[in-house]
Amino acid sequence: MDKTSRIPGLHKMSIAERITALKDFADLTDEETALLGKSSVLGMDVAERMIENVIGTFELPLGLVPNMKVNGREILVPLAVEESSVVAALANAGKMTSSGGGYFTSSSDPIMIAQIQAVDIADPFGAKMKILEHKEKIIALANEQDPILVKFGGGCRDIEVRVIDTRKGPMVVTHILVDTRDAMGANAVNTMAEAIAPHIENWTNGKVFLRILSNLADRRVARVRCLVKKDAIPPGPEVIDGIINAWAFADADPYRAATNNKGIMNGISPLVIATGNDFRAIEAGAHAYASRTGQYRALARWEKDAEGNLVGSMELPLAMGLVGGATAIHPMAKLIVKILGIDTATELSEITAAVGLGQNLAALRALASEGIQRGHMSLHAKNIAVMAGAKGEEIELVAHQLSSEGKVRVDRAKVILEQVRKKNC
Ligand code: NAD
Repeated sequence: MDKTSRIPGLHKMSIAERITALKDFADLTDEETALLGKSSVLGMDVAERMIENVIGTFELPLGLVPNMKVNGREILVPLAVEESSVVAALANAGKMTSSGGGYFTSSSDPIMIAQIQAVDIADPFGAKMKILEHKEKIIALANEQDPILVKFGGGCRDIEVRVIDTRKGPMVVTHILVDTRDAMGANAVNTMAEAIAPHIENWTNGKVFLRILSNLADRRVARVRCLVKKDAIPPGPEVIDGIINAWAFADADPYRAATNNKGIMNGISPLVIATGNDFRAIEAGAHAYASRTGQYRALARWEKDAEGNLVGSMELPLAMGLVGGATAIHPMAKLIVKILGIDTATELSEITAAVGLGQNLAALRALASEGIQRGHMSLHAKNIAVMAGAKGEEIELVAHQLSSEGKVRVDRAKVILEQVRKKNC
Protein backbone atom coordinates (compact mmCIF):
# COMPACT_ATOMS: atom_id res chain seq x y z
CA MET A 1 0.00 0.00 0.00
CA ASP A 2 1.18 3.58 -0.76
CA LYS A 3 2.37 5.57 2.18
CA THR A 4 0.02 8.24 3.46
CA SER A 5 0.76 11.10 5.80
CA ARG A 6 -2.85 11.07 6.92
CA ILE A 7 -2.71 9.39 10.30
CA PRO A 8 -6.24 9.25 11.73
CA GLY A 9 -6.40 10.40 15.36
CA LEU A 10 -2.70 11.34 15.54
CA HIS A 11 -3.55 14.16 17.94
CA LYS A 12 -5.36 11.75 20.28
CA MET A 13 -2.57 9.16 20.39
CA SER A 14 -0.11 8.82 23.24
CA ILE A 15 3.47 9.84 22.56
CA ALA A 16 4.47 6.17 22.32
CA GLU A 17 1.70 5.47 19.78
CA ARG A 18 2.74 8.46 17.66
CA ILE A 19 6.34 7.26 17.67
CA THR A 20 5.26 3.78 16.57
CA ALA A 21 3.27 5.28 13.70
CA LEU A 22 6.24 7.41 12.70
CA LYS A 23 8.66 4.47 12.98
CA ASP A 24 6.61 2.52 10.46
CA PHE A 25 6.16 5.50 8.17
CA ALA A 26 9.83 6.54 8.05
CA ASP A 27 11.38 3.06 8.48
CA LEU A 28 13.26 4.16 11.57
CA THR A 29 15.68 1.79 13.26
CA ASP A 30 15.38 1.04 16.99
CA GLU A 31 18.43 3.22 17.58
CA GLU A 32 16.84 6.15 15.74
CA THR A 33 13.51 5.66 17.47
CA ALA A 34 15.26 5.80 20.83
CA LEU A 35 16.10 9.49 20.17
CA LEU A 36 12.40 10.29 20.34
CA GLY A 37 9.97 10.38 23.23
CA LYS A 38 12.32 11.79 25.80
CA SER A 39 13.38 15.08 27.26
CA SER A 40 16.31 16.03 29.43
CA VAL A 41 14.87 19.19 30.97
CA LEU A 42 11.47 20.17 29.63
CA GLY A 43 9.49 17.10 30.61
CA MET A 44 7.28 15.30 28.08
CA ASP A 45 4.14 16.33 29.96
CA VAL A 46 5.09 20.03 29.65
CA ALA A 47 6.01 19.56 25.98
CA GLU A 48 2.57 18.04 25.36
CA ARG A 49 0.91 21.08 26.89
CA MET A 50 2.94 23.42 24.68
CA ILE A 51 2.33 22.09 21.16
CA GLU A 52 0.31 19.42 19.36
CA ASN A 53 1.33 15.91 18.27
CA VAL A 54 4.50 15.84 20.37
CA ILE A 55 7.00 13.07 19.59
CA GLY A 56 10.05 14.40 21.42
CA THR A 57 12.05 17.47 22.21
CA PHE A 58 14.89 19.13 20.32
CA GLU A 59 18.08 20.25 22.05
CA LEU A 60 20.42 23.14 21.24
CA PRO A 61 23.74 23.92 22.90
CA LEU A 62 23.47 26.57 25.63
CA GLY A 63 26.61 28.72 25.87
CA LEU A 64 27.51 31.24 28.56
CA VAL A 65 28.73 34.69 27.47
CA PRO A 66 31.00 36.54 29.91
CA ASN A 67 32.15 40.18 29.90
CA MET A 68 28.69 41.74 29.54
CA LYS A 69 28.00 44.94 31.47
CA VAL A 70 24.60 46.57 30.94
CA ASN A 71 23.80 49.89 32.64
CA GLY A 72 26.70 49.33 35.01
CA ARG A 73 25.55 45.83 36.03
CA GLU A 74 27.74 42.80 35.32
CA ILE A 75 25.73 39.98 33.76
CA LEU A 76 26.34 36.53 32.34
CA VAL A 77 24.23 35.80 29.27
CA PRO A 78 23.22 32.25 28.27
CA LEU A 79 22.59 31.81 24.54
CA ALA A 80 20.82 28.83 22.93
CA VAL A 81 22.31 28.52 19.46
CA GLU A 82 23.58 25.97 16.94
CA GLU A 83 26.13 28.23 15.22
CA SER A 84 29.78 28.27 16.28
CA SER A 85 31.47 31.61 17.10
CA VAL A 86 28.31 33.42 18.27
CA VAL A 87 29.13 32.99 21.97
CA ALA A 88 32.82 33.82 21.51
CA ALA A 89 32.02 36.87 19.36
CA LEU A 90 29.79 38.40 22.03
CA ALA A 91 32.39 37.74 24.72
CA ASN A 92 34.96 39.57 22.55
CA ALA A 93 32.58 42.46 21.98
CA GLY A 94 32.10 42.65 25.76
CA LYS A 95 35.85 43.13 26.22
CA MET A 96 35.86 45.95 23.67
CA THR A 97 32.76 47.72 25.01
CA SER A 98 34.00 47.49 28.61
CA SER A 99 36.53 50.19 27.65
CA GLY A 100 33.54 52.56 27.42
CA GLY A 101 31.67 51.21 30.46
CA GLY A 102 29.68 48.50 28.67
CA TYR A 103 26.24 48.86 27.13
CA PHE A 104 23.71 51.54 28.07
CA THR A 105 20.03 51.03 27.37
CA SER A 106 16.58 52.59 27.51
CA SER A 107 13.18 51.69 26.11
CA SER A 108 9.69 52.85 25.30
CA ASP A 109 6.69 51.60 27.25
CA PRO A 110 5.78 48.02 26.26
CA ILE A 111 3.03 49.05 23.86
CA MET A 112 1.70 46.43 21.45
CA ILE A 113 -0.57 47.14 18.50
CA ALA A 114 -3.54 45.01 17.43
CA GLN A 115 -5.22 45.68 14.10
CA ILE A 116 -8.92 45.42 13.26
CA GLN A 117 -9.54 45.35 9.51
CA ALA A 118 -12.89 46.68 8.26
CA VAL A 119 -13.86 46.47 4.57
CA ASP A 120 -16.81 47.24 2.26
CA ILE A 121 -17.23 50.72 3.69
CA ALA A 122 -18.64 53.31 1.28
CA ASP A 123 -17.36 56.31 3.28
CA PRO A 124 -14.06 55.18 4.81
CA PHE A 125 -13.02 58.62 6.04
CA GLY A 126 -16.38 59.24 7.71
CA ALA A 127 -16.13 55.77 9.24
CA LYS A 128 -12.66 56.56 10.56
CA MET A 129 -14.05 59.62 12.39
CA LYS A 130 -16.95 57.60 13.82
CA ILE A 131 -14.53 55.04 15.26
CA LEU A 132 -12.35 57.78 16.77
CA GLU A 133 -15.47 59.30 18.39
CA HIS A 134 -15.79 56.02 20.32
CA LYS A 135 -12.21 56.00 21.60
CA GLU A 136 -13.12 55.90 25.31
CA LYS A 137 -15.68 53.12 24.74
CA ILE A 138 -13.09 51.09 22.77
CA ILE A 139 -10.47 51.52 25.51
CA ALA A 140 -12.99 50.48 28.17
CA LEU A 141 -14.11 47.44 26.13
CA ALA A 142 -10.50 46.39 25.63
CA ASN A 143 -9.62 46.69 29.30
CA GLU A 144 -12.70 44.71 30.38
CA GLN A 145 -11.16 41.72 28.58
CA ASP A 146 -8.03 41.61 30.75
CA PRO A 147 -8.50 42.82 34.33
CA ILE A 148 -5.28 41.05 35.34
CA LEU A 149 -3.25 43.06 32.86
CA VAL A 150 -4.92 46.24 34.10
CA LYS A 151 -4.16 45.22 37.70
CA PHE A 152 -0.48 44.95 36.80
CA GLY A 153 -0.49 48.51 35.42
CA GLY A 154 -1.10 47.66 31.76
CA GLY A 155 -4.11 47.98 29.47
CA CYS A 156 -5.30 49.75 26.36
CA ARG A 157 -3.91 53.30 26.20
CA ASP A 158 -5.03 54.73 22.88
CA ILE A 159 -6.41 54.01 19.44
CA GLU A 160 -5.46 55.04 15.91
CA VAL A 161 -7.48 54.64 12.73
CA ARG A 162 -5.94 54.45 9.26
CA VAL A 163 -7.57 54.35 5.85
CA ILE A 164 -5.34 52.30 3.61
CA ASP A 165 -5.54 51.79 -0.15
CA THR A 166 -5.37 48.15 -1.16
CA ARG A 167 -5.92 46.04 -4.30
CA LYS A 168 -9.39 45.34 -2.90
CA GLY A 169 -10.21 49.00 -2.36
CA PRO A 170 -9.98 51.17 0.75
CA MET A 171 -9.88 49.51 4.14
CA VAL A 172 -10.40 51.09 7.53
CA VAL A 173 -7.84 49.71 9.96
CA THR A 174 -8.20 50.41 13.66
CA HIS A 175 -5.15 50.04 15.87
CA ILE A 176 -5.52 49.52 19.59
CA LEU A 177 -2.38 50.47 21.49
CA VAL A 178 -2.03 48.28 24.55
CA ASP A 179 0.54 48.40 27.33
CA THR A 180 1.18 44.71 27.91
CA ARG A 181 3.69 45.15 30.78
CA ASP A 182 5.60 41.90 31.32
CA ALA A 183 3.67 39.90 28.71
CA MET A 184 4.64 39.61 25.05
CA GLY A 185 0.96 40.33 24.71
CA ALA A 186 -0.19 38.57 21.54
CA ASN A 187 -3.02 36.68 23.19
CA ALA A 188 -3.92 39.65 25.34
CA VAL A 189 -4.31 42.10 22.44
CA ASN A 190 -5.92 39.56 20.11
CA THR A 191 -8.66 38.94 22.68
CA MET A 192 -9.24 42.69 22.97
CA ALA A 193 -9.38 43.15 19.18
CA GLU A 194 -11.93 40.34 18.85
CA ALA A 195 -14.16 41.94 21.49
CA ILE A 196 -14.07 45.33 19.77
CA ALA A 197 -14.67 44.05 16.23
CA PRO A 198 -18.53 43.75 16.32
CA HIS A 199 -18.79 47.34 17.55
CA ILE A 200 -16.63 48.56 14.65
CA GLU A 201 -18.99 46.77 12.26
CA ASN A 202 -21.96 48.52 13.90
CA TRP A 203 -20.43 51.97 13.80
CA THR A 204 -19.14 51.71 10.21
CA ASN A 205 -21.67 49.43 8.49
CA GLY A 206 -18.61 47.56 7.24
CA LYS A 207 -17.44 43.99 7.55
CA VAL A 208 -14.59 43.12 9.89
CA PHE A 209 -12.24 40.32 8.86
CA LEU A 210 -8.86 40.28 10.62
CA ARG A 211 -8.39 41.01 14.33
CA ILE A 212 -4.76 40.33 15.19
CA LEU A 213 -1.66 41.93 16.63
CA SER A 214 1.01 43.50 14.46
CA ASN A 215 4.50 42.09 14.84
CA LEU A 216 5.83 45.46 13.73
CA ALA A 217 5.89 46.45 17.39
CA ASP A 218 7.33 49.89 16.69
CA ARG A 219 5.85 51.40 19.87
CA ARG A 220 7.74 48.83 21.94
CA VAL A 221 11.34 49.57 21.17
CA ALA A 222 14.51 48.85 23.09
CA ARG A 223 17.51 51.15 22.62
CA VAL A 224 21.18 50.51 23.26
CA ARG A 225 24.48 52.33 22.81
CA CYS A 226 28.09 51.49 23.47
CA LEU A 227 31.46 53.18 23.14
CA VAL A 228 34.70 51.43 22.29
CA LYS A 229 37.84 53.40 23.15
CA LYS A 230 40.03 53.70 20.06
CA ASP A 231 42.93 51.88 21.73
CA ALA A 232 40.68 49.00 22.88
CA ILE A 233 39.86 47.61 19.45
CA PRO A 234 42.16 45.01 17.95
CA PRO A 235 44.24 45.09 15.85
CA GLY A 236 44.23 48.90 16.25
CA PRO A 237 42.28 52.15 15.78
CA GLU A 238 42.63 51.90 11.99
CA VAL A 239 39.85 49.24 12.03
CA ILE A 240 37.31 51.86 13.21
CA ASP A 241 37.03 53.42 9.75
CA GLY A 242 36.58 49.93 8.31
CA ILE A 243 33.69 49.28 10.71
CA ILE A 244 32.00 52.56 9.84
CA ASN A 245 32.46 51.82 6.13
CA ALA A 246 30.97 48.36 6.64
CA TRP A 247 27.96 49.89 8.41
CA ALA A 248 27.50 52.51 5.65
CA PHE A 249 27.60 49.71 3.05
CA ALA A 250 24.88 47.79 4.91
CA ASP A 251 22.77 50.89 5.40
CA ALA A 252 22.86 51.64 1.67
CA ASP A 253 22.55 48.13 0.25
CA PRO A 254 19.84 45.58 1.13
CA TYR A 255 22.05 42.67 0.00
CA ARG A 256 24.62 43.61 2.62
CA ALA A 257 21.98 44.78 5.13
CA ALA A 258 20.38 41.32 5.19
CA THR A 259 23.68 39.74 6.27
CA ASN A 260 24.51 42.58 8.63
CA ASN A 261 21.14 42.22 10.36
CA LYS A 262 21.45 38.43 10.38
CA GLY A 263 24.60 39.01 12.40
CA ILE A 264 22.63 41.15 14.86
CA MET A 265 19.96 38.42 15.12
CA ASN A 266 22.81 35.93 15.79
CA GLY A 267 22.78 37.36 19.29
CA ILE A 268 19.14 38.33 19.64
CA SER A 269 17.44 35.09 18.51
CA PRO A 270 19.50 32.79 20.80
CA LEU A 271 18.52 34.87 23.83
CA VAL A 272 14.91 35.04 22.69
CA ILE A 273 14.92 31.24 22.35
CA ALA A 274 16.75 30.73 25.66
CA THR A 275 14.10 32.75 27.49
CA GLY A 276 11.21 30.87 25.85
CA ASN A 277 10.11 33.85 23.80
CA ASP A 278 8.62 33.86 20.31
CA PHE A 279 11.63 34.16 17.98
CA ARG A 280 9.50 34.38 14.83
CA ALA A 281 7.72 37.42 16.27
CA ILE A 282 11.02 39.09 17.14
CA GLU A 283 12.58 38.31 13.74
CA ALA A 284 9.52 39.61 11.86
CA GLY A 285 9.46 42.79 13.96
CA ALA A 286 13.16 43.46 13.54
CA HIS A 287 13.19 43.03 9.77
CA ALA A 288 9.99 45.03 9.28
CA TYR A 289 11.52 47.82 11.39
CA ALA A 290 14.70 47.70 9.30
CA SER A 291 12.48 48.44 6.27
CA ARG A 292 10.50 51.28 7.79
CA THR A 293 12.02 53.96 5.50
CA GLY A 294 10.89 52.01 2.43
CA GLN A 295 14.32 50.44 2.00
CA TYR A 296 15.72 47.54 4.04
CA ARG A 297 18.60 49.04 6.04
CA ALA A 298 21.11 48.25 8.78
CA LEU A 299 19.47 47.99 12.21
CA ALA A 300 22.45 49.45 14.09
CA ARG A 301 24.58 52.54 13.44
CA TRP A 302 28.33 53.09 13.92
CA GLU A 303 30.07 56.47 14.14
CA LYS A 304 33.21 58.09 15.56
CA ASP A 305 33.10 60.58 18.44
CA ALA A 306 35.21 63.75 18.66
CA GLU A 307 38.10 61.77 20.23
CA GLY A 308 38.05 59.12 17.52
CA ASN A 309 36.37 56.41 19.67
CA LEU A 310 33.81 54.10 18.08
CA VAL A 311 30.17 54.68 19.07
CA GLY A 312 27.45 52.14 18.30
CA SER A 313 23.70 52.56 18.70
CA MET A 314 20.58 50.64 17.85
CA GLU A 315 16.82 50.86 18.35
CA LEU A 316 14.49 48.02 17.43
CA PRO A 317 11.17 46.48 18.44
CA LEU A 318 11.63 43.68 20.97
CA ALA A 319 8.28 42.31 22.10
CA MET A 320 9.54 39.93 24.76
CA GLY A 321 7.68 38.67 27.80
CA LEU A 322 8.35 37.10 31.18
CA VAL A 323 4.77 35.89 31.72
CA GLY A 324 2.64 34.02 29.22
CA GLY A 325 3.94 31.99 26.30
CA ALA A 326 6.64 29.43 27.10
CA THR A 327 8.71 31.69 29.33
CA ALA A 328 6.82 30.96 32.50
CA ILE A 329 6.52 27.20 31.96
CA HIS A 330 9.81 26.10 30.42
CA PRO A 331 12.11 25.22 33.34
CA MET A 332 15.24 26.22 31.41
CA ALA A 333 13.72 29.58 30.40
CA LYS A 334 12.87 30.27 34.04
CA LEU A 335 16.42 29.40 35.08
CA ILE A 336 17.88 31.68 32.41
CA VAL A 337 15.71 34.60 33.56
CA LYS A 338 17.14 34.03 37.06
CA ILE A 339 20.72 33.92 35.70
CA LEU A 340 20.10 37.25 33.93
CA GLY A 341 18.91 38.69 37.25
CA ILE A 342 15.93 40.54 35.80
CA ASP A 343 12.42 41.29 37.05
CA THR A 344 10.73 42.90 34.06
CA ALA A 345 10.20 42.19 30.39
CA THR A 346 11.61 45.63 29.62
CA GLU A 347 14.94 44.71 31.24
CA LEU A 348 14.99 41.52 29.19
CA SER A 349 14.39 43.44 25.95
CA GLU A 350 17.16 45.90 26.78
CA ILE A 351 19.70 43.14 27.48
CA THR A 352 18.63 41.50 24.23
CA ALA A 353 19.25 44.74 22.33
CA ALA A 354 22.72 44.94 23.91
CA VAL A 355 23.44 41.37 22.82
CA GLY A 356 22.44 42.30 19.25
CA LEU A 357 24.65 45.40 19.15
CA GLY A 358 27.59 43.43 20.60
CA GLN A 359 27.22 40.78 17.89
CA ASN A 360 27.21 43.46 15.22
CA LEU A 361 30.38 45.00 16.67
CA ALA A 362 32.18 41.65 16.77
CA ALA A 363 31.17 40.75 13.21
CA LEU A 364 32.00 44.14 11.69
CA ARG A 365 35.35 44.27 13.51
CA ALA A 366 36.27 40.84 12.16
CA LEU A 367 35.07 41.69 8.64
CA ALA A 368 36.99 44.95 8.65
CA SER A 369 40.23 43.23 9.75
CA GLU A 370 41.15 39.55 9.49
CA GLY A 371 37.82 38.42 7.98
CA ILE A 372 35.12 36.28 9.53
CA GLN A 373 36.45 32.83 8.68
CA ARG A 374 39.42 32.67 11.05
CA GLY A 375 37.16 32.89 14.10
CA HIS A 376 34.71 30.40 12.63
CA MET A 377 37.27 27.83 11.65
CA SER A 378 38.29 26.02 14.83
CA LEU A 379 34.78 24.89 15.82
CA HIS A 380 33.83 24.40 12.18
CA ALA A 381 36.90 22.14 11.74
CA LYS A 382 35.69 20.00 14.65
CA ASN A 383 32.28 19.64 13.00
CA ILE A 384 33.94 18.67 9.72
CA ALA A 385 36.11 16.11 11.57
CA VAL A 386 32.96 14.54 13.07
CA MET A 387 31.32 14.51 9.63
CA ALA A 388 34.36 12.59 8.34
CA GLY A 389 33.83 9.96 11.05
CA ALA A 390 36.30 11.09 13.74
CA LYS A 391 35.47 10.02 17.27
CA GLY A 392 36.76 10.96 20.74
CA GLU A 393 40.36 12.20 20.70
CA GLU A 394 40.52 11.86 16.91
CA ILE A 395 38.24 14.92 16.56
CA GLU A 396 40.78 17.33 18.07
CA LEU A 397 43.68 15.81 16.09
CA VAL A 398 41.88 15.97 12.75
CA ALA A 399 40.46 19.46 13.42
CA HIS A 400 43.86 20.81 14.40
CA GLN A 401 45.46 19.48 11.21
CA LEU A 402 42.60 20.85 9.06
CA SER A 403 42.88 24.32 10.65
CA SER A 404 46.64 24.50 10.32
CA GLU A 405 46.43 23.49 6.65
CA GLY A 406 43.63 26.02 6.09
CA LYS A 407 41.71 23.35 4.12
CA VAL A 408 38.64 22.63 6.23
CA ARG A 409 36.92 20.08 3.97
CA VAL A 410 35.39 16.67 4.59
CA ASP A 411 37.46 14.95 1.86
CA ARG A 412 40.68 16.21 3.43
CA ALA A 413 39.38 15.32 6.93
CA LYS A 414 38.83 11.70 5.78
CA VAL A 415 42.43 11.45 4.56
CA ILE A 416 43.79 12.92 7.81
CA LEU A 417 41.57 10.60 9.85
CA GLU A 418 42.98 7.55 8.04
CA GLN A 419 46.52 8.77 8.76
CA VAL A 420 45.66 9.32 12.44
CA ARG A 421 44.20 5.81 12.72
CA LYS A 422 47.18 4.20 10.97
CA LYS A 423 49.55 6.01 13.33
CA ASN A 424 47.58 4.82 16.35
CA CYS A 425 47.46 1.19 15.18
P1 NAD B 1 -0.62 34.97 27.75
O1 NAD B 1 -1.99 35.33 27.31
O2 NAD B 1 -0.31 33.56 28.01
O3 NAD B 1 -0.24 35.82 29.05
C1 NAD B 1 -0.45 37.18 29.16
C2 NAD B 1 -1.41 37.45 30.28
O4 NAD B 1 -0.80 37.24 31.54
C3 NAD B 1 -1.86 38.90 30.33
O5 NAD B 1 -2.88 39.10 29.40
C4 NAD B 1 -2.30 39.07 31.77
O6 NAD B 1 -3.64 38.69 31.93
C5 NAD B 1 -1.45 38.06 32.54
N1 NAD B 1 -0.40 38.66 33.38
C6 NAD B 1 -0.02 38.24 34.60
N2 NAD B 1 0.96 38.98 35.10
C7 NAD B 1 1.26 39.92 34.19
C8 NAD B 1 2.22 40.98 34.12
N3 NAD B 1 3.08 41.24 35.12
N4 NAD B 1 2.27 41.73 33.01
C9 NAD B 1 1.44 41.49 31.99
N5 NAD B 1 0.49 40.51 31.99
C10 NAD B 1 0.40 39.73 33.09
O7 NAD B 1 0.49 35.45 26.73
P2 NAD B 1 0.63 36.69 25.76
O8 NAD B 1 1.88 37.41 26.18
O9 NAD B 1 -0.61 37.48 25.62
O10 NAD B 1 0.91 35.96 24.35
C11 NAD B 1 2.16 35.41 24.05
C12 NAD B 1 2.02 34.16 23.22
O11 NAD B 1 1.23 34.42 22.07
C13 NAD B 1 3.32 33.67 22.71
O12 NAD B 1 3.41 32.29 22.98
C14 NAD B 1 3.24 33.88 21.19
O13 NAD B 1 3.99 32.90 20.51
C15 NAD B 1 1.78 33.74 20.93
N6 NAD B 1 1.22 34.36 19.72
C16 NAD B 1 1.96 35.15 18.89
C17 NAD B 1 1.37 35.70 17.75
C18 NAD B 1 2.19 36.62 16.88
O14 NAD B 1 3.30 37.00 17.24
N7 NAD B 1 1.71 37.01 15.69
C19 NAD B 1 0.03 35.45 17.48
C20 NAD B 1 -0.71 34.67 18.36
C21 NAD B 1 -0.10 34.10 19.48
